[in-house]
Amino acid sequence: MALTERLEAIFQEVIKRNPGEAEFHQAVKEVLESLGPVLVKYPEFAEAKVIERICEPERQLIFRVPWQDDKGEVQINRGFRVQFNSALGPYKGGLRFHPSVYLGIIKFLGFEQIFKNSLTGLPIGGAKGGSDFEPKGKSDGEVMRFCQSFMTELWRIIGEHTDVPAGDIGVGGREIGYLFGQYKRLTNKFEAGVLTGKGLVYGGSQVRTEATGYGCTYFVEEMLKGKKNGFKGKKVVVSGSGNVAIYTLEKVKELGGKVVAMSDSNGVIVDEKGCNVETVKRLKEIERRRIKDYCEYHKHAKYIHNGNIWDVPCEVAMPSATQNEITGKDAKKLVKNGCIAVGEGANMPTTPEGVHVFLSAGVLFGPGKAANAGGVATSGLEMQQNASREAWGFEETDAKLHQIMKNVYQLCSEAAEEFGSPGNFVVGANIAGFIKVARAMIAHGIV
Ligand code: GLU
Repeated sequence: MALTERLEAIFQEVIKRNPGEAEFHQAVKEVLESLGPVLVKYPEFAEAKVIERICEPERQLIFRVPWQDDKGEVQINRGFRVQFNSALGPYKGGLRFHPSVYLGIIKFLGFEQIFKNSLTGLPIGGAKGGSDFEPKGKSDGEVMRFCQSFMTELWRIIGEHTDVPAGDIGVGGREIGYLFGQYKRLTNKFEAGVLTGKGLVYGGSQVRTEATGYGCTYFVEEMLKGKKNGFKGKKVVVSGSGNVAIYTLEKVKELGGKVVAMSDSNGVIVDEKGCNVETVKRLKEIERRRIKDYCEYHKHAKYIHNGNIWDVPCEVAMPSATQNEITGKDAKKLVKNGCIAVGEGANMPTTPEGVHVFLSAGVLFGPGKAANAGGVATSGLEMQQNASREAWGFEETDAKLHQIMKNVYQLCSEAAEEFGSPGNFVVGANIAGFIKVARAMIAHGIV
């Protein structure tokens, strides 16, 4: 969609002020493309320069993370925290540990997080952080020393009412535990609400581990229901084999679908009988092994080294690995093979060309900032429990997550309809997420 003159000028300014940050530019452009009709209806947003302000993070921290590996050698990584927007509540968003991390990745993620968090209906602002640290192949001791060093800088700018980090790629329960332990030492406070994704024994929430995958599956279920359809009997492909992919697999199976392929950065497994949840969990969560080893336990399954998972025919695609994993070409292949719905478990996994292919073909498309909002929503529920010193049961928490995902779908669907793009959940998510933040920003004055 073409940008109006005013939005194009804002976009050009973002490129100029943030050179070399391609992923950030991509995330901003996608949101701006949806906002034309909003500025027509609410000229006060343009007047108060709300969009220009949203595109500029409120605060950014870049820091050195020195640590010692098991051989005694000194290693240096770079740490980031971008506190993007606090109009709706304390900054909130995960930490990503991956060698590809640089400021442009953290800014794209932080920017998306603003709208995602707004869509959850919970009082949380948007942020993201992380490091170019590579957790793959590191010992527990190395990961712990890295996390302690990372927190030794980060603790100054976070807090339960200020900024609440959590996990993302490369950061799970183990890392959150080490980060929390160091925060507690540095501050001499047991401040449970400062991090989410904690272990259940020290203030974590039920369902937080499962939340992104379950939530994404609930969102796709709503999209299918809107077309009088459902998961029953559907062939599903889920890329990745991390936390999001594993719990997508579990929930899809529960709802009667069959996940026939999964992947990691080395290759793809295809199991026409349906991927086995227990095997994937054991390999990935406990033994930290590669997806290839799945075939040792299920001889009928195929492993394709360096394969392209989007070549595997399916009716529902749930990209749950990383950004820009579905290209325009992949999207065309999926459509040709009969794909009718896509739910983005990862953040921005479909390129703009891919999104265009899906929308033009009438594929139900759930963009990440709506479809994967269940993770951060359950983090919001963890914060609620920490604040009231309560711990809810699994079913109660899952029911709340389910309801939140239904609401997110409803919000996207209604906004898309109201602003002239019925069925376009990209436009719906961007508009519904934006309007709430914009209203709060206007209420706060020029800040
Ligand atoms: N990293 C997740 C996301 O992309 C979760 C963030 C959180 O729980 O704060 O939304």
